[in-house]
Amino acid sequence: MGSVAVPLAGLEESYDYIIVGGGTAGCVLANRLTEDKDVRVLLLEAGDDKTTDPLVLTPGLVAGVYGKDEYDWNFQSVPQSTLNNRIINQARGKMLGGSSALNFMMLVYPSKASIDAWAAVGNPNWNFEALKPYLKKFATVDVPSASTKDICSITYNNDTVAYGDGPVQVSFGEGYGVTNKGWFDTFESLDLLSKRDARDGQALGAFQNASSIDPATKTRSFSAVTYLTPEVRARENLKILTNTHVNKVLFDTTGSEPVATGVEINVNGIVSQVSASLEVILSAGALQSPQILELSGVGSKEILTQHNIPVVVENPAVGEGMQDHPIVCQSFEVKEGTPSGDVLRDPAVLKALLDMYTADRSGPLGQLTISVAYTPLVNKTGVISDEGVKELFAGRDFSNPARAAVRDIVTNPNEPTFQYILFPTQVHIADKPDNMATHLIPVEPENFLTVMTILNSPFSRGSVHIQSSDPKAAPVWDPKYNHDGLDMELLARGVQFVEHLVAPESALGKLLNQTGRRLPQLKGDDLETAKEIVRQRQISVFHVSGSCSMRPREQGGVVNERLQVYGAKGLRVVDASIFPIEPAGNIQSVVYSVAERAADLIKEDRKAVKV
Ligand SMILES: Cc1cc2nc3c(=O)[nH]c(=O)nc-3n(C[C@H](O)[C@H](O)[C@H](O)COP(=O)(O)OP(=O)(O)OC[C@H]3O[C@@H](n4cnc5c(N)ncnc54)[C@H](O)[C@@H]3O)c2cc1C
Repeated sequence: MGSVAVPLAGLEESYDYIIVGGGTAGCVLANRLTEDKDVRVLLLEAGDDKTTDPLVLTPGLVAGVYGKDEYDWNFQSVPQSTLNNRIINQARGKMLGGSSALNFMMLVYPSKASIDAWAAVGNPNWNFEALKPYLKKFATVDVPSASTKDICSITYNNDTVAYGDGPVQVSFGEGYGVTNKGWFDTFESLDLLSKRDARDGQALGAFQNASSIDPATKTRSFSAVTYLTPEVRARENLKILTNTHVNKVLFDTTGSEPVATGVEINVNGIVSQVSASLEVILSAGALQSPQILELSGVGSKEILTQHNIPVVVENPAVGEGMQDHPIVCQSFEVKEGTPSGDVLRDPAVLKALLDMYTADRSGPLGQLTISVAYTPLVNKTGVISDEGVKELFAGRDFSNPARAAVRDIVTNPNEPTFQYILFPTQVHIADKPDNMATHLIPVEPENFLTVMTILNSPFSRGSVHIQSSDPKAAPVWDPKYNHDGLDMELLARGVQFVEHLVAPESALGKLLNQTGRRLPQLKGDDLETAKEIVRQRQISVFHVSGSCSMRPREQGGVVNERLQVYGAKGLRVVDASIFPIEPAGNIQSVVYSVAERAADLIKEDRKAVKV
C-alpha cells in the first residue's frame, strides 16, 4: 500500500506541530502548545476517545479494560530467563489519555535523589529543583479528611486548602480501614513511619499515597479529560484525530542534517501524509516511540538494514536502556472478618457496590485503598547497616556513570531503595498471562491481601526493537529483569523484609490467618527462598521508561536536554522514554511534569527561532 502526499479529508496540509500519541504526555503538550492561538497543532492517537466510558471512568472497574483491543495494546515480553522463563504482560493504554486511562491511579512523588541522578548522568539542567515547579503544575491535590489523616497516620500534611491548581484532580478518599491502619502501625513499630510529605522528595517510611481520582465526581482523573477539556477541544488551532495510526516520521534528507517534515498515517487502511512546519513530537510511550523512530530510519544500522529500512540517523541507543520497576507480589490469606477486595468475585457483592456507586458515587468502587511505604535497603534483620551495605557492594564495577548514579541512590540510607504496597486483593501469577486482568481476577477461593516489594532503582537495562517493518506489528520487548545480578540480590533482601510486616506479632500480621495459605506457599526469610519467591512472583509495575534516553549522545543518549532527537532537526520525544534513570515510586507524576516542562522548552525554542 503506497502512501499519498495529500492530506486526509478534514485535515489541513500542514500544522506547526504534530504530536504522535494522545497519551499521558501527548495531551499535556496538545493543551499547553495551543495556549498560543498562533500555534496550530495536530494530535494523532491510534486508539479511540473513551473519555465517557464507565469502565475507564470508574476507578474500581479498571480490570475490565485490560486485554481488550479497543483499550489496551496488551504487550508481552520475551520469556525472562531470571523469572523461570515466564512471559511478563505489559498493559498500555490505546485510547485518548493513553496509559493514564487504564493505570492504577496511584499518585506519588519521586524522591529528590532519583531525579537529581538525571543531572549526574549528563543532564545538568534536569534535577529535582528544576522539575519541582512542574510537579506542582500538573495537579490539584485535595486535602485529606480528618478520619483519613487519623487512620493513615498523616501527621505531616497540614494543608487546609488544595495544593497546586493543575488540571489533574488528586484525592485521598475515605475508604481506608483496619488493614491500612495495620500497615501504618506495623511500620511505626519498625520505626519506619514517614514524618515528611512525599511531595518534598524526601519521604522515607510508610505514607498514604493519593490517587488521581476527582474527589467531586469519584471518577478517574486522567490526561484526556483534564488536559483536553471541552474548552481546549474547542480551540480552533487544535485538531485531534483518533483511530489514526502513525506509521513513521517523514524526513527531508537533502540538506546537511535530516529534517522531520511530517508523518505517514493510516486511518482505516488509507495511508496518507501530513506535514509539520516546525516539529514532529513523539509521545507514543516507552515501547512505541522507539518503534516509530526505528520504522522511520532512526536507530541501529544493523536492525534497520535487517528490515530494509533506509538509515536516516544511525544511533544504536534507540530502544536500548529500557528500564522498569520489578515488583514481587506475595499474597497472604486474611483472617475471617478482615476486609479483602476478593469478595468482589461474588456477583451479588459487585452488583450491590455498583448500585451504591451509581446512586451517589459512594462505596469502594470510587476510591483506591492501597497504602505504600518507602524504605532504605532492608533485609530480614530490618534496615541494613552501613557496614552491611558496603559489603554487598564491595568488589563490583561502577565505572559506568549510570551504574554509579544508581549505586549512589541505593546505598544512601536516606533514600527509598524499596517501595512496598499494601494491595487489597490476591494476585495471581501465570507463566503466560493473557493480559493484566489475569493477575487481578481472584481464582483462589480464600480471601487475601497482597504485599508488593518494588525495587525503585534497578541496575538492569532491557530493550525494545522492531521485529518487522510493518508499523502494526508489536515490537519485541525484552526487559531483561535482574540480568544485572545485583537486582536479584537487592530484590530478594526486600522480600526477606516482608516477613517483618506479616509476622504474627505485627499489627498487619494480626489481621492475617497465620496458619492459612500464602501465594506462593513460601516463607522468604532465608535469602535463597526469597530469590525463589522473586523468580515465581515478580512481574512489571508497568513503569517502562528509558528507551529513548536523555543523555549525551556518546553515552547512549537518543535525545538532548531539550528532548530533541540527536542527528535530526524538528524531531523530539516527550514521554517516559526519555527518563535516563527510573525515578522512585509510581511514575505518572514524573511523566506529567516532564511533559509540562517540555511544553515550556518547545515554546522557548519557537520564540528563539522567531527572533
Ligand atoms: C496497568 C498500568 C498501571 C499503572 N499504574 C500506575 C499508577 O498507579 N500510578 C502511576 O503513577 N503510574 C502508573 N502506571 C504508569 C503510568 O501510567 C505510565 O508510565 C504513563 O501513563 C506513561 O505515559 P506516556 O505518555 O509515556 O505513554 P502513554 O500514556 O502510554 O501514551 C502513549 C500514547 O501513544 C499512542 N500511540 C502509540 N503508538 C502510536 C502510533 N503508532 N500512532 C498513534 N498513536 C500511538 C497510544 O495509544 C497512547 O495513547 C501504570 C501503567 C499501567 C500500564
